[in-house]
Amino acid sequence: MSAAGAPGPAPLHVRGVVLPEGDHRDLYVVDGRVTYERVAGAETVAVGYVVPGLVDAHCHVGLDADGAVPPAVQEEQALADRDAGTLLIRDAGSAADTRWIDDRADLPHIIRAGRHVARSKRYIRNYGVEIEPHELVDTVADQTRRGDGWVKLVGDWIDRDAGDLTPCWPGDALAAAIAKAHELGARVTAHVFGEEALPDLLAAGIDCLEHGTGLSPELVAIMAERQVALVPTRRQVDNFPRYADQGEPKFPAYAVHMRELYGRVDETLRAAYAAGVPIYAGTDAGGVLPHGLIATEIRMLHERVGLSAYDALGAGSWRAREWLGLNAGLHEGAPADFVVYADNPLDNLGVLAAPARIVLRGAVVR
Ligand SMILES: [Zn+2]
Repeated sequence: MSAAGAPGPAPLHVRGVVLPEGDHRDLYVVDGRVTYERVAGAETVAVGYVVPGLVDAHCHVGLDADGAVPPAVQEEQALADRDAGTLLIRDAGSAADTRWIDDRADLPHIIRAGRHVARSKRYIRNYGVEIEPHELVDTVADQTRRGDGWVKLVGDWIDRDAGDLTPCWPGDALAAAIAKAHELGARVTAHVFGEEALPDLLAAGIDCLEHGTGLSPELVAIMAERQVALVPTRRQVDNFPRYADQGEPKFPAYAVHMRELYGRVDETLRAAYAAGVPIYAGTDAGGVLPHGLIATEIRMLHERVGLSAYDALGAGSWRAREWLGLNAGLHEGAPADFVVYADNPLDNLGVLAAPARIVLRGAVVR
């Protein structure tokens, strides 16, 4: 401590089993980083199973059912995610400017996708930038500047004339827009519920698909070969029957279609996992669902989609961190973002519902 500067945070100590390696270790935190060299005087803040900070790979901070929300509500959303152990969010589209969160050391890291890029009058009102196909390349370029390396397209949505889901974009527009994003160093993902939009998105070189309930074995093989990621948002898919009921009076064909997709969802997603498609945990919080459901999503990837407990936890922790360009594990010198649980989540993913201690940027936040 010097007269000129504030004292640094006191060093911390955690004793336990560090996942995914599973080694018994004494972990210390000094100046926001992990070290395994003993630090005299470090305060022991937890004993248990240490997991690299959880990742919600499909989340919307700044949105509710009606569109953008003010900063005070954004803060509540980010805190709900953080207190569930989510220390990194891939924001899959938000109508609000949440950039201020980057200056708050006590709130999760956010990797943004800008605003949803949607076809005119073909998405939830007040959510996205609504455009026509000839504007897609320029809009995608704009959103790469607004985001943090991702762009989010709405790939299909209900078409009032057809009375069912139809693709939002022609293949040539998608190919040009995705090529533009890649040229600008951004990856592209798309919301897709149905079958029809998928071949063009994959042919255009998309990097990731959200939901993916319309995937066929042929398309799953393409995804596996090219390692195109899938974020199934399995908890969100449980709302399909409700969306079907809501749409039924005006769009009976859509209702039938949504129930069909829902009826085979676990078969569809299990095939993707079996084929080796990289799968990540995303809750889709912020529109319909509340924030803070990452433990539920990870558990559902295991119980419903059939991921092993190790793969399901990796899908919401170390593997997702690596995919998003952050430190995967808690090796020497890694940023100290981790969650400690009293029991081993690999024996029972239910323990994820009750974090014993959360350390974010080297500080205890819970
Ligand atoms: Zn979403």
